[in-house]
Amino acid sequence: MKLYDVHTHIQDERMAGIWQQVVQRAVAEGVRGIVICGLHEGDWDEVLAMAATHEALVPALGIHPWFIENRSPRWADILAQKLESNGAAVGEIGLDRMIRPRNDDDQEQVLIRHLEIAHDLKLPVNLHCRSAWGRMMAILKSMGGLPYGGVVHSWSGSAEMVREFEKLGCYISFSGSVTRPDNKKVQKAVKAVSRDRLVLETDSPDILPTGIESDLNEPAFVRSVLESVAFLRGESVDDVAGYTYENAVRLFSGCRWNERNRP
Ligand SMILES: [Zn+2]
Repeated sequence: MKLYDVHTHIQDERMAGIWQQVVQRAVAEGVRGIVICGLHEGDWDEVLAMAATHEALVPALGIHPWFIENRSPRWADILAQKLESNGAAVGEIGLDRMIRPRNDDDQEQVLIRHLEIAHDLKLPVNLHCRSAWGRMMAILKSMGGLPYGGVVHSWSGSAEMVREFEKLGCYISFSGSVTRPDNKKVQKAVKAVSRDRLVLETDSPDILPTGIESDLNEPAFVRSVLESVAFLRGESVDDVAGYTYENAVRLFSGCRWNERNRP
């Protein structure tokens, strides 16, 4: 069985010294693709260096909405240059209306700039969205959707909104939050996603799936997300593993990183 974890942060300092073993454990579980999402300018080079060590790893570079306050004046030029020369994906980027103090205008400006760069370089994006669904949809619409693909990670929107985001070129990703028995909204949304748009992730080292004993979440545990998603959709684990893997490969095929590392 082949699996693909479309959203992780294994560069997190909590995994310093163990991330190589974490990757090995994931590969042993059949995880053939692991996207490492950068969070801010300070971790981009580390993400690229890590991703170069194993063929399963794919880098994504961007500034997460929690970290935009510390961006440098030239962040967009630096990002575009690194993306162009490495063929990485763009992420983690997005909107988060739950952080305090609110900086909505700044977040939108930074998101739009990232999306422009992704469009110019024809790269897929890895999106974060919390309590900003209307604005996210409006921004994606105003930019003509995501012609080079993108994924909304750890989906927390409604089932009704799934189709709207699919129409804009988005894939929909579920994390360990789907394994929580009380998370009815996400469990309903899982059933609304089209077969050709569904992907899986861990968001490790956070969002540990229910029932797993570990201090940290890791890509090997994407198997647990898979089992919950398959159960909720009334489909077999093999079936869901097969099509979510193909979807993820298609989604990230726009990265020249993949071409270079997987001839
Ligand atoms: Zn994340």
